Amino acid sequence: MYHAPSDLNEALEIARDFGGTVVAGGTDVFPSAKQGHLPDNILDVTGVAGLKDIEHSSDGSRIGAAVTWSQIAKSALPPAFDALKQAALEVGSVQIQNAGTIAGNLCNASPAADGVPSLLALNAAVEVASLARGVRLIPLSEFVLGVRRTALQSDELVTAITIPPVPPHMGSAFEKLGSRSYLVISITMTAAMVSCDDQGRLTEARIAVGACSPVAQRLPELEARLVGQRLTDIRIAPSDLAALSPIDDVRGSKDYRLDVVAKQCERAIKRAAQNG
Ligand SMILES: Cc1cc2nc3c(=O)[nH]c(=O)nc-3n(C[C@H](O)[C@H](O)[C@H](O)COP(=O)(O)OP(=O)(O)OC[C@H]3O[C@@H](n4cnc5c(N)ncnc54)[C@H](O)[C@@H]3O)c2cc1C
Repeated sequence: MYHAPSDLNEALEIARDFGGTVVAGGTDVFPSAKQGHLPDNILDVTGVAGLKDIEHSSDGSRIGAAVTWSQIAKSALPPAFDALKQAALEVGSVQIQNAGTIAGNLCNASPAADGVPSLLALNAAVEVASLARGVRLIPLSEFVLGVRRTALQSDELVTAITIPPVPPHMGSAFEKLGSRSYLVISITMTAAMVSCDDQGRLTEARIAVGACSPVAQRLPELEARLVGQRLTDIRIAPSDLAALSPIDDVRGSKDYRLDVVAKQCERAIKRAAQNG
């Protein structure tokens, strides 16, 4: 059965009574289905009114769950969102960016999901809705629980990603390393969001790293150490990244990944400072 509701209440009723698969762009769901065994029961959320809207004001931002990466890349958002826009352009290819959605990336809960570090830096929360419990807001850091595990209940849908107001003059940047430059899974990725005073010293730093632990994470100790430093003096070493636990695999050793992240942090901070 294929359900394609246009109204959120109808979608939530289907989700409550449903035993199937929620699908947005399908770019994670369909490739992971065993050949010839597509889900019998599909709830397609892409037609639900309001889920494809991006709203931004001084009170904060709201990105609908079914907003695609292409929409984000083209959106008129302030420089604090540049890291997210750069990440959007790294998700697969243009075809994947046209279909793949922000909520699909978060719900798939891959350690290498390109959208997560920038959203962690933005202090994003995931808005979820169900008929039983209404709307709840879950900080992104508490939404992705582990590899392929989220806090979403079976009767819930993600309706939006919300972002609190961003301090003025904060810029951001995203760095991704893959085994080639295009259409590739991340070996490491880093998002930085910073502000500087007129002496070039950092007044705020938010750093998040993906693909180096089961769940992408902020690095609060490093962030605290960076505040007050001049941009020109910033040096980051693997010893600053003790919170990370990258794997050793064919795409890179643990030590290699930590070396790369240290360089990505330095580069992303400098790039972020330039666009703030
Ligand atoms: C060739 C290829 C290249 C790729 N490259 C990258 C890459 O470079 N970087 C990267 O991060 N990802 C990549 N991906 C993965 C994928 O494109 C992204 O994760 C994308 O954002 C998923 O969005 P989607 O809408 O297609 O998700 P779907 O496949 O529709 O859904 C993914 C998961 O989210 C759930 N879901 C979706 N929407 C909702 C909702 N509103 N409420 C509740 N649950 C929901 C689904 O049930 C499913 O569990 C690639 C995929 C392919 C096929």
